[in-house]
Amino acid sequence: MNIPNLLVVPFPVQGHVNPLMNFSQKMVEHGCKITFVNSEFIHKRVMSSVAKQESLEESPTIKLVSIPDGLEPDDDRSDLGKLCDSVLSTMPSMLEKLIEDIYVNSGDKITCIVADVIMGWALEVGRKLGIKGTLFWTASAAMFALEYNIPKLIQDGIIDSHGFPITKETFQISPSMPSMDTEAIWWSKVYNPTTEKKIFKYLVHCMQHSNLAKWYICNTTCELEPSALSCVPKLLPVGPLLRSYDNTNVIARSLGQFWEEDHSCIDWLNQQPHCSVFYVAFGSFTLFDQNQFNELALGLDLNNRPFLWVVRQDNKMIYPSEFLGSKGKIVGWTPQLKVLNHPSIACFVTHCGWNSIIEGLSSGVPFLCWPYFTDQFHNRNYICDELKIGLRLNSGENGLVSRWEIKKKLDQLMDDEQIRTRSLELKEKVMNNIAGGESSENISRVVNWLKS
Ligand code: UDP
Repeated sequence: MNIPNLLVVPFPVQGHVNPLMNFSQKMVEHGCKITFVNSEFIHKRVMSSVAKQESLEESPTIKLVSIPDGLEPDDDRSDLGKLCDSVLSTMPSMLEKLIEDIYVNSGDKITCIVADVIMGWALEVGRKLGIKGTLFWTASAAMFALEYNIPKLIQDGIIDSHGFPITKETFQISPSMPSMDTEAIWWSKVYNPTTEKKIFKYLVHCMQHSNLAKWYICNTTCELEPSALSCVPKLLPVGPLLRSYDNTNVIARSLGQFWEEDHSCIDWLNQQPHCSVFYVAFGSFTLFDQNQFNELALGLDLNNRPFLWVVRQDNKMIYPSEFLGSKGKIVGWTPQLKVLNHPSIACFVTHCGWNSIIEGLSSGVPFLCWPYFTDQFHNRNYICDELKIGLRLNSGENGLVSRWEIKKKLDQLMDDEQIRTRSLELKEKVMNNIAGGESSENISRVVNWLKS
């Protein structure tokens, strides 16, 4: 039988590596082999975080390999404009060489490239080498529909040729889609016009190769985003793609985490009452300034309930002197899906990154939404206004979310039985997708195509 040998190419940030790793593990369950390509910088981080927790033997089915991203080791990779420029000038030729080297060194032929949409140039490399390809989108279907329709947005005068919104108004991508605010134009929500221009140019370049893709595989489900999915025919929902924590299974190991997971938080959660803990985590990018950090810390104190707060190692802020934190536990990085599924968790205070949203939805927890940049504002609106399974935090005149606002909204969320009920109902619907429902069927379609 034909064993598909996939080359998986994520954009080098945590929120893209994770879902593509989850997808890779799914493909391995269906008999595929994977070569997972990180940038050298990310590869080192992943290897070091894995090595700290488990003995790293080579997995026979997921090979982790790397190519340079063109930046120096201490360059700032959170400057996304600089990263995009460097990725595009360095990685395509390196990827081509990698594929040729794999063949020369091991005789292994790559049979398909699965590229992150924002590594879409990889499909052009595949075309040159006669390898078929498909794209994978790591955010919501609605945000893909937006990017897919960039030429139309320019033509309709909604954005200019650099991607910036021209007017502050609502618009519709297609008659079947609900109207969106220009706030949803995620590439213009990075707070630095030079970076936004570079990102937009990069996106347009990547989308030029999208016609080479068989599908745009997406970590969403049919009932979550029916109208966005119907708007782009090749969008294929396969979500929720969730990490497995089965440690006995070699393919289920944490092969994508940039930071070492602190499992002591699970022991701590085991000691907390049912449905009592606020889980507070803002993904891999969000950083607060000192004033906002203070308000958050003091807001958590004010609530006088247990909280689990992720403060990453790259946080440079210091805790305010009045902060007690006596009810809480602070860790650097958690096994997030395991945390969200813990019976002690009452709600998720989140920046609304799409992976966090999918993980929270699949665990049935209500959200307290605090978006930071890019697509997170749209995700917040969707959670609060369409799905009605969360509340938003508002900032005051000084631009800060105050400790009082945090306390008020957490109290409100804890008292809202309707939000809790809706969250649990949605969890069931969403999870049915991977228990033989539409997403399972779509995974089978992908596998059949890969084996053909
Ligand atoms: N995550 C984690 N432990 C943490 C915080 C986050 O494993 O303590 C994972 C989370 O499960 C998700 C990813 O990091 O898969 C963050 O992706 P998301 O799209 O939510 O946000 P981003 O990091 O892209 O802003």
